[in-house]
Amino acid sequence: GAKTRGRNAYRFFEPGMDVTIRTRRALETDLQAALTRQEFELNFQPIMNIASGEIVGAEALVRWHSPVRGLVLPQDFIPVAEETGLIIPLGEWSLVKACAVAASWRSGVYIAVNVSAVQMRERNFISTVTSALASSGVPANRLELEITETVLMDESDVVLTTLRQLRQLGIRIALDDFGVGYSSLSYLRRIPVDKIKIDRSFISDIDNHDTAAIVSTIIRLGTQLGITVTAEGVETTGQLEFLRREGCVQAQGYLIGVPSKAEAVCNIVREAHILAGSGRSPPRSEP
Ligand code: C2E
Ligand code: MG
Ligand code: MG
Ligand code: MG
Repeated sequence: GAKTRGRNAYRFFEPGMDVTIRTRRALETDLQAALTRQEFELNFQPIMNIASGEIVGAEALVRWHSPVRGLVLPQDFIPVAEETGLIIPLGEWSLVKACAVAASWRSGVYIAVNVSAVQMRERNFISTVTSALASSGVPANRLELEITETVLMDESDVVLTTLRQLRQLGIRIALDDFGVGYSSLSYLRRIPVDKIKIDRSFISDIDNHDTAAIVSTIIRLGTQLGITVTAEGVETTGQLEFLRREGCVQAQGYLIGVPSKAEAVCNIVREAHILAGSGRSPPRSEP
């Protein structure tokens, strides 16, 4: 009867849960060790000014090369790192590393670093950022911090104050994955941001008439508010041409370049600089 089935279901359920917990614990343990064993790496993805074709910046994206798990992508360990607090030392490592790489690149190129809500709420966050800049000698205006809505869901003023202080230092703030959250527009009214990055789900669906209308509206909105608009996940020339026609300032995606090792992106950056410097001088605009 139902009672027997219920008991069986319970018996089957429990070992499964146990496995889940053990898997999760193993992941936490491996993650903890990964930091000291230096298994993390930063890849960089170029960001292009659409009007000039110049590479103006690069986004740092963390990769975990686990000897037992192989390559692990951020979506599979960042949430765990956030819940365990490991994102604090990992985030600090990312900032220091990204600034060191920025120091080795030509001065016109900025570096964007993703920042979790947990980091942003940490007391020492500003000093973590400023010492990463100081030790690398990279000026604040070459650093951009990418935040998502989860950073802003905190109702307290702490996050707002931190964002203002960062901007006062000359660091730019970008609102990542724009458009997929619950209240992207209301945040634009409250939060001082320099840039919005249109989520790639919009770009991949740009052939859809309604999606195209939303994207061009976001671009116009950004323009009117004096906020730089970047399109994420640009994969085709058709998408790039649409964005160019609509006046989108920046593009990032596999079409422009996949996330690569710092040295490889450095070459792309140098080539783009040489190309931009030869012949007619391309129009320059704010990154
Ligand atoms: P994100 O900040 O929105 O980064 C863009 C993601 O889209 C990256 O995934 C990138 O590899 C991918 N991407 C870029 N261009 C294309 C494209 O043309 N097509 C497609 N299909 N994908 C593209 P990734 O590297 O797996 O990172 C995922 C997310 O993990 C990031 O999303 C970011 O939120 C987070 N993340 C990455 N690195 C860090 C980090 O150092 N710290 C923190 N807190 N979060 C990070
Ligand atoms: Mg990002
Ligand atoms: Mg994004
Ligand atoms: Mg994302």
